[in-house]
Amino acid sequence: MTMRILVVGAGIAGLAAARGLRVAGFRPDVVEELPATMLPGAGIYLPGNATRALRVLGLDAPLRPLGDLIFRQLFLDAAGGQLFELDVAALWAGVGESRALARADLQQVLLTGVGGEVRYDTAVTDLQIVDGAAKVEFSGGRIAEYDLVVGADGRRSTVRAKAGLGGAATPTGQIVYRSVVTGGPQLSDWTALLGERSAFTVMPMGSRRLYCYADETPEAGTPNPADPEARLRELFGDFGGPVPQILNAIEKVQVARTDEVVLESWSRGPVVLVGDAAHATAPTLAQGAAMSFEDAVVLGEVLRATPGDIPAALAAFEARRRPRCEQVRTRTRERDDNRDVPPAERDSMLRSRGQAIFADQYRELVQPL
Ligand SMILES: Cc1cc2nc3c(=O)[nH]c(=O)nc-3n(C[C@H](O)[C@H](O)[C@H](O)COP(=O)(O)OP(=O)(O)OC[C@H]3O[C@@H](n4cnc5c(N)ncnc54)[C@H](O)[C@@H]3O)c2cc1C
Repeated sequence: MTMRILVVGAGIAGLAAARGLRVAGFRPDVVEELPATMLPGAGIYLPGNATRALRVLGLDAPLRPLGDLIFRQLFLDAAGGQLFELDVAALWAGVGESRALARADLQQVLLTGVGGEVRYDTAVTDLQIVDGAAKVEFSGGRIAEYDLVVGADGRRSTVRAKAGLGGAATPTGQIVYRSVVTGGPQLSDWTALLGERSAFTVMPMGSRRLYCYADETPEAGTPNPADPEARLRELFGDFGGPVPQILNAIEKVQVARTDEVVLESWSRGPVVLVGDAAHATAPTLAQGAAMSFEDAVVLGEVLRATPGDIPAALAAFEARRRPRCEQVRTRTRERDDNRDVPPAERDSMLRSRGQAIFADQYRELVQPL
């Protein structure tokens, strides 16, 4: 009998999971609560292990013409003086290219990989596990039964809550400001300027655009700024390097919060969580998409290996994926803690040891899946 599979959410993790399942020979239904016209803004940075997983999913070729390749990461102090550099081409040699591109372009590539219809404007509103199957209710009241439900519905996952796998995500305290800039300076390297409990990161993302990602960790309880653009200028107005020229060119700023999701288990009966729903972290290492792609590869593999025993396949999935995702969380926290050390102390340490420490944070992820 064909396995009835539902993927909930058509973000990066859901579309990748749907692709991984198709590559493994399954034909999942995919639902998304937002309308099809809702395209993600901003850019995204994909390190080499993201490209490797996309290659396994057969999606690296359509990605190749998109965005800009990143060969080097420069870490600077707030004034623009170099702390150290990371040779990302060498770090990910033999694994995959590192690339920055528009999120909307990535979404398009993933969509073409799904190979079936995505049902938009369709939310999962309830889920019950009955006799080993999942009974799912959708907005509008329709009810359907599935052998497997893949919750790819993000850090505020409904599937997670309904399956009793965990509650709300934990805020990291970071506020993130993102913008796509045209008419800024010409940059070829991913460049981060480290401030005091704040950082300004910029990278080329194709078509002479720059993707800016800036963040701050304010006192607990600080609300989002009413005027994100003004706050960005306030935070980074006295930074050096390329920042003044970028601030001059910036037009629109998106503000976001980041969260962590830490769960005891990612699955229950016929329900499994992937992507941010299972293991969101702050995006400091830019590993969220990569972890979602790796989830997709492994989910397809374990289900193909034991299609007749879904709980066993899901246990195998978690056993393979959890250590890697936990490494990402640990390294992310290390990096964020390190960033929050006062600059006078931190910057001299980073000048002498930054390259070795930061390269080490990716070491495990270079290893095969
Ligand atoms: C500010 C910021 C910057 C980041 N930068 C990077 C980066 O540079 N590189 C990187 O790799 N990662 C980055 N990440 C992380 C990355 O975006 C995520 O890890 C990745 O997108 C995976 O998300 P997801 O698909 O699991 O969840 P989401 O992107 O949240 O997608 C979930 C989808 O499910 C839908 N949905 C929710 N509930 C329901 C429901 N009940 N029924 C139906 N549909 C539903 C939502 O509408 C949404 O489309 C960043 C994250 C943030 C917050």
